[in-house]
This record gives sequence, structure tokens and C-alpha cells, in this order.
Amino acid sequence: MNDLLRAASEKLKNYNGKKVRIMEVCGTHTHEIMRLGIRKLLSENIELISGPGCPVCVTDEAFIEKAIFLALEKNCTILSFGDLLRVPGGGNSLLLARAHGAKVETVYSAMDSVKYAKAHTDEDCVFLSIGFETTVPGNLLAVKKAKDLSLSNFSVLSAMKTMPGAYRLMARSTDAFLYPGHVCAITGTKELQELYKDGVSGVISGFSPEELLSSILFCVDGLSKGKTFFKNLYPRVVTEEGNIEAKRLISEMTVPVDSKWRGIGVIKGSGLVLSDEYASFDAEKKFEIPTFDGKRETACRCGDVLTGKITPNGCPLFRKVCTPENPVGACMVSSEGACSAYYDYGEKR
Ligand code: SF4
Repeated sequence: MNDLLRAASEKLKNYNGKKVRIMEVCGTHTHEIMRLGIRKLLSENIELISGPGCPVCVTDEAFIEKAIFLALEKNCTILSFGDLLRVPGGGNSLLLARAHGAKVETVYSAMDSVKYAKAHTDEDCVFLSIGFETTVPGNLLAVKKAKDLSLSNFSVLSAMKTMPGAYRLMARSTDAFLYPGHVCAITGTKELQELYKDGVSGVISGFSPEELLSSILFCVDGLSKGKTFFKNLYPRVVTEEGNIEAKRLISEMTVPVDSKWRGIGVIKGSGLVLSDEYASFDAEKKFEIPTFDGKRETACRCGDVLTGKITPNGCPLFRKVCTPENPVGACMVSSEGACSAYYDYGEKR
């Protein structure tokens, strides 16, 4: 441990001011905090909670049901990142649907799904387009490519989301945010400055031990002074304007819509669907898809985990019934999910 790390961890361990809650809103932060054992270094007066920063975890049950419907009833080929296949939805999953004959293929990038569609012109290919501002531009480039290639057998089912609405909703549950460095690299800092003006505190954090500890320390210092604060502590990657090209792509190719987040509910304007120019690539418009109610696994408390009301240890199913091999909820599926991270690193509080 270098001197900087040692000094920061000593301060955080010996902190005896008022109790503070800090929410990380990034699955990679959750994973790194657990992997590095950072929670164990902190005073009991510092509570770290996990927010809705893992795209797989917040993908609504109804989205999974729609994908299964497209596969089983419309004979579409579903192309998806691997994690999503195990996410429960309506008592089913894409993996189970595949066992019942659905054609479900794993891809490693959105562009792979375009390559697949180009090579299989006799199949109706639907890419499951999930993710936040970091993933969305890559998904959109794939749609652009499909348009350039005039692929009529390619479309996307969108559960793309943006973070600002979630920050505002989650601000009730935390004293300060560790904002997600990767998302902020795309969005820049403007929206966070707006939140700061509205009284929401937070810092943009990187992912190394030094960056995480100094970000937590900055929050604890700020909160103990009782002032609202905002600081970009990841300036080597995050700029004020963000990634202009990626933002242009998002604004040109999508329109915001209300979006349902698993376990949380609808957040106004937090979803993205393809704009009219790309409507022929929108699976919702291309196929007649009935409304699904997004039936929940009733005992799963993903919603409470994602909003920081409990840690995974507070879920009665954690470790007993719900494990990475048998995930009951989405937070146990992805390695970036809080339940999965708690399971892997044996956190007790
Ligand atoms: Fe849901 Fe499993 Fe997490 Fe409990 S442990 S909240 S059942 S994902």
C-alpha cells in the first residue's frame, strides 16, 4: 500500500463524525469496491450502498418476456450479450426459451449481431439493445451499419437507458454519489453540475484503489462539513463536454421515452428508442408485440438492493436459494450486480 492509500484508508477507518451514506452508481465500481475489500477498510459511520448502475440488473422483466415472445411466437433469432440470457422474466428466461427451441445466439458486441444478420438473411434477427450512455453509441453504430447495408432482417429491441433521471430519484436514498466514470466520459459534467445546483452532492470517480479511496474521502470530508459539493476526480478521462461524437449520435438517432427499471418502476424520460429515421430497425414497430406486465419474482428484493434500502444480505433468498448458478433476480446474474459481488466477495454487512 503506498503512502497516499495508507493515509486515505487511515482517515476513513478512524472517521467518527456523523453517519454518512454514499451510493456508487456503477456496476464496475460495485465490483471493484468488493474485490479490493474497500468496505472493510471503512469506519462503521460510513455506509457504501450500491445503486442501479448495472444495465442487466435494471432491465425490466417485461423486456425479457417480449424477447421470448419474439423468439417463440415470431420465430425471430435473438442476439444478445450472454448475461441477459439468464435474467428471469415472467417466470422464464431466454436460456430456458432456448431449451424449448427458441433460436438465441450470444454476441460479444452489437456489431457482431449485424454481421450475423448479414450472414443469415433468411432469419429475422433481433438484437437486445440494453445499456447506458457508455454502451448506447456502440449499439447505434450497429443500427447505422445495418442501414448502410440495407439489412431488412435486422432490428433492435431497446431497453437503452440514461442515468440523470435515476440520479434524481436515488438522491433521496443517499447523501452523496460516486458518479460512474465511464458514463461521465460520454456525458461530460454538465448534467451533474445541474444536480449540484439542485443540492445533490457527488464526485466522479475512477476505478483504481487510489481513485476510489480518494473519492470516498472527498465525499466524507464534504458531508462532514454539511455543504453540497461536486468534483470531477477522474479528469484524465472525463471532460466537461464529454464525448461530443457519441452524444451527437445519441441525439440524432434516438428519442427519449419513459422507461421501466426493474424493481424501481418507471423513470420519466430515462429510456431511448430509435428515432423515426431508423424506425424500420425498431423491433417494437416491426413486429406486433403484445403488452407484458413484467411479472415479478415476489420474494426477490432486487428493487430494494438497487435503491440502497437493503444490502443483498438483507434478502432472505441470498445464498440460500439465490446463487450465481441459480439466480432468482437479475442482481445475481451479472458480475456487476450487487448480489453477485456480495456473493463472490463474502461481504457481511
Ligand atoms: Fe434478488 Fe437474489 Fe438479490 Fe435476493 S439475492 S435480491 S433474490 S437477486
